Amino acid sequence: MMKLPAGAAFVLNRLNQKGYQAYVVGGCVRDALLGRAPKDWDVCTSALPEEMQRIFADCHVIETGLKHGTLTVMYEHEPYEATTFRVDGAYTDHRHPDEVIFVADVKEDLARRDFTINAMAWNPDTGLVDAFGGREDLAKGIIRCVGDPEKRFGEDALRIMRALRFASVYGFDIEPETAAAIHRLKETLGGVAAERIRVELAKLLCGQGAGLILREYKDVMFTIIPQLKPMDGFDQHTPYHAFDVWEHTVQSVEHAPSNEVLRLTMLLHDVAKPHVFTLDEDGIGHAWGHQPLGAKIARQVLLGLKTDNATMERVTLLVEHHDDEFLPERRAMMRLLGAFGEEVARQLMDVNHADESAKGRKPQREIDEATKRLRTALEDVIASKPCVTLKDMAVNGRDLMASGFPAGKQLGETLNWLLDQLLDETLPNDRETLLRAASEHRKHI
Ligand code: ATP
Ligand code: MG
Repeated sequence: MMKLPAGAAFVLNRLNQKGYQAYVVGGCVRDALLGRAPKDWDVCTSALPEEMQRIFADCHVIETGLKHGTLTVMYEHEPYEATTFRVDGAYTDHRHPDEVIFVADVKEDLARRDFTINAMAWNPDTGLVDAFGGREDLAKGIIRCVGDPEKRFGEDALRIMRALRFASVYGFDIEPETAAAIHRLKETLGGVAAERIRVELAKLLCGQGAGLILREYKDVMFTIIPQLKPMDGFDQHTPYHAFDVWEHTVQSVEHAPSNEVLRLTMLLHDVAKPHVFTLDEDGIGHAWGHQPLGAKIARQVLLGLKTDNATMERVTLLVEHHDDEFLPERRAMMRLLGAFGEEVARQLMDVNHADESAKGRKPQREIDEATKRLRTALEDVIASKPCVTLKDMAVNGRDLMASGFPAGKQLGETLNWLLDQLLDETLPNDRETLLRAASEHRKHI
């Protein structure tokens, strides 16, 4: 028995009372069977769109996709999508069906869905409708296309990314024929809108199986982000790294906390290494300048994926500074905080830890301890609420002018000098002290 939220039960009941079949279907059935909380509960029904409009005439509804058979019913401010059983017409663009055809049988509706684990329906009277072995695949941990994989990916190439995403998020395997079709048809992803690829990529990167997928399906990754390809097999010729740049990248993704910004950062952090690589006369490899160039390439990648600005800016900033020198000392952390603020400073610690953990040279315990020292130093500084920016300083330019400073270059220089004293904690952030120090300093410049 599945526990339905009140809104889904309401929609099912209403449709049943009026003599129509209705089921919860797709992702919610999959997630409920997995013991995960479904994000949203979708309903499929034998009622036609105009019949649903009549049946739910007294409810707040949103007519988002009536043409495709979908009516959204609001229940206690939560949306429930109800969609008429349908099959899709021909796909000439590898993405959208040219038309949809409404059908009477739930099994036909299930047959149009992408993977067996997503092709199950349930209601309290009938129980589970599972025409393609979805429950068994769910238990075994397998992503398998409904029907012929070539044909299904041919209809809609986004399904390739969805397969990789589900495999990563649930830690599932991809069934061999489905996997083979993914490799064969990856180029058709070129026809899919970039933002849709990005959404799936972000989920894939945050999944528990991200590393496995990045290794096993690197050809797909290099198709959607060609800038990654030069990292593959690129030998770093350095005692600091045990792996080639791509394997290092994959491991760094695995070591990063599971969030989009950090995982994208790790995916892209060394993207410029092959481009700036040099060998010195001792045969040691160097990648000087890979941070700024990496930030530039990362931006280009993220723009290509139509990434939102906030994510793009943050990821490029983290890529640009991932390899800065971080020291577990108060002074260094004051500067870090002054330059980046709390949130970015903390993220840089995560990035540094993931990067170090993926080099394969030092014992993990040693790396964890070094990171702990850095984090402790940073948190100690944060907790002491220091002044680390001009904005927080107890005096500003106007105060200095009021005490006799002429406007101009010297004024700015003096403010920065004062901030330096605060960052080094050679002066307290106290108005009188700073004014006195400023006028003393002026005598010497
Ligand atoms: P999520 O947990 O991300 O919501 P989901 O499987 O519910 O995953 P949705 O995009 O909400 O994904 O789609 C709901 C259902 O519609 C899927 O479970 C699947 O049955 C079907 N579906 C979605 N996208 C496709 C697609 N591209 N091709 C075929 N069926 C699809
Ligand atoms: Mg869903």
